[in-house]
Amino acid sequence: MRAAIYRGPGEITVEEVPKPEVESPTDAVVRITHTAVCGSDLWFYRGQSDREEGSRVGHEPMGIVEAVGEDVRSVEPGDRVFAPFVVSCGRCEFCRKGLHTSCVNGDSWGGDNGGGQGEYVRAPTADGTLVRVPDRHADDEETLEALLPLTDVMGTGHHAAVSAGVGEGDTCIVVGDGAVGLCGVLAARRLGAERIVAMGHHEDRLELAREFGATETISARGEEAIERAIETTYGGATHVMECVGAASAMETAIEVCRPGGTVGYVGVPHGVNEDGLDLFGMFGDNITLSGGVAPVRAYAEDLMADVLQGTLDPSPIFTKTVDLDGVPEGYRAMDERDAIKVLVKP
Ligand SMILES: [Zn+2]
Ligand SMILES: [Zn+2]
Repeated sequence: MRAAIYRGPGEITVEEVPKPEVESPTDAVVRITHTAVCGSDLWFYRGQSDREEGSRVGHEPMGIVEAVGEDVRSVEPGDRVFAPFVVSCGRCEFCRKGLHTSCVNGDSWGGDNGGGQGEYVRAPTADGTLVRVPDRHADDEETLEALLPLTDVMGTGHHAAVSAGVGEGDTCIVVGDGAVGLCGVLAARRLGAERIVAMGHHEDRLELAREFGATETISARGEEAIERAIETTYGGATHVMECVGAASAMETAIEVCRPGGTVGYVGVPHGVNEDGLDLFGMFGDNITLSGGVAPVRAYAEDLMADVLQGTLDPSPIFTKTVDLDGVPEGYRAMDERDAIKVLVKP
């Protein structure tokens, strides 16, 4: 089979690799029909985080079950499924708490299970990892494209909103206009927020934020952006969603948080270790930091129910579609911000 492979910063190739097989009784093999390039893939693509050269890439798989091990109960060959960006068992202490990203039997995609950006993937602990799409929706292309973001960015935006404590009638600020920030806007609206202020740097993305439910957008940079956010919320928002991961975004989030408020953070932290967090400012204003890597498996069924009933549709974040050969071009387009998020149909 063919799969995308990381060959060093700025270099993704599509190569022939061994096709995965059922290795354990709890495995399933999935033929991938839809997957995506992620903003988090850009960290290694840009050489800003380490990744082993020659490793498979991609962690947002959706497809058709091709084979299952003898202990798999929840899916069978022919089922349409998708999988969150980490593997989880669904049975351990942390999976039962809804913290699937800390699963004691967990794993990430891209090792010997194969990456998500390829023709097939081996899904370990398939009963826990895979989410089955009901048959009557299993071949509806529009629905599938709306479900695919539940593998990562929609669940992550939702985690930001939940972590920030967003609820009915609230005012919140979303820091970041990437796919996660945009999904964060959708999530805040879904949870009943009344005012949603989206902060970002790209007019086209902020336009989509408005379509998704942002009531105001701020495209200024630096101090000016912070001042405007504080001014428009009369002193900051009690619920702030940090959806970038860069140290500067975290600083902005803390600065625009109202005293006594909560910053829900879901961006993979980069640069925060070097610069440190402004704990003193958080201390002075009793600001809570909540969040972390999103356990998107915990949210999959709830969010899927809304997609299937037509009240949630994150698919407009996909502004470019490629086939498997187009994956290197997909990385380039996201790196150069020609695309918000790239849909891959192998
Ligand atoms: Zn992702
Ligand atoms: Zn587990």
